[in-house]
Amino acid sequence: MKNMKRVVFTLFQPAMLALIVVFWAYAPASLLEKGWLVTAISICTLIVVQILEFVNERYPGWRLNWREFLTDVFYVVLYFAVIAKVETKLAEEPLLSAKHALGITTDWAMHLPFLAQVAFAFFLIEFGQYWMHRLMHNTFLWWTHAPHHHITQLNAAKGLVGNPVELFLVSLSVIALFDLQLNALFCAFNLVGAVSAFSHANVRFYTPRWYAFIFTTVEAHSLHHTVGFVETRCNYANCLILIDRLFGTFREGESSVVGQDERKRLMISQQFMFPFRPLIAMFKGHQDKSASASN
Ligand SMILES: [Zn+2]
Ligand SMILES: [Zn+2]
Repeated sequence: MKNMKRVVFTLFQPAMLALIVVFWAYAPASLLEKGWLVTAISICTLIVVQILEFVNERYPGWRLNWREFLTDVFYVVLYFAVIAKVETKLAEEPLLSAKHALGITTDWAMHLPFLAQVAFAFFLIEFGQYWMHRLMHNTFLWWTHAPHHHITQLNAAKGLVGNPVELFLVSLSVIALFDLQLNALFCAFNLVGAVSAFSHANVRFYTPRWYAFIFTTVEAHSLHHTVGFVETRCNYANCLILIDRLFGTFREGESSVVGQDERKRLMISQQFMFPFRPLIAMFKGHQDKSASASN
């Protein structure tokens, strides 16, 4: 029984990714018209990984409670019902129009083998996310990303918890510039969703070494969520840790204690207001100065 559990939690991550690839590789054309299917698969993946947290828990300190669960559900709904749609309207569609107006064609992409198209889309999404994420840790954009680092435990859906501006910025991609088959694109989206769920989950996976070399694991990502601000400047890749290895930002290890600013947990309203903190502080300082001048 113990051995069986070990096998399941060793193979689960690669097997799930393989299943997603096989599904989209053989999905009939009629399924491609159902745009909601990508979202449904992403949400099902989150539910399965969430259940795994109760089968093979990583740390008792990260155990899901009602408050965390309801916050996570709020962000899952926010992401799929609002952020993803805003991103399509404000980023993807204008990019697509610009592509048509400029007469850019990338038909070659569509003629690549299915797996190559998936790998290309996955890499492109991840490459953009890596640099946006790294920028956030090294510029004023930190104010948008900090709420994600204020979470004090990791769970399957925690990848979607953060300030809405950050969620929008980190979803930006140039993928719309490339002509790829719809099933390859959908496959890449679902793979990103799955790896992101694995890397935020309170699950003790016995990850194969080859998998951890290529993809982000909860070990690598928990280190990114560690308590010191400077210490978070590593393992930026959402899914493809290979990019951190390439650019010298990879660090080996893991962290059971996560959270910024003395692990102060933020409420949803505080997560939303966080980027405005410097402005509010400036405004308050200005008011205090005028009050002391008039005294
Ligand atoms: Zn970060
Ligand atoms: Zn994270």
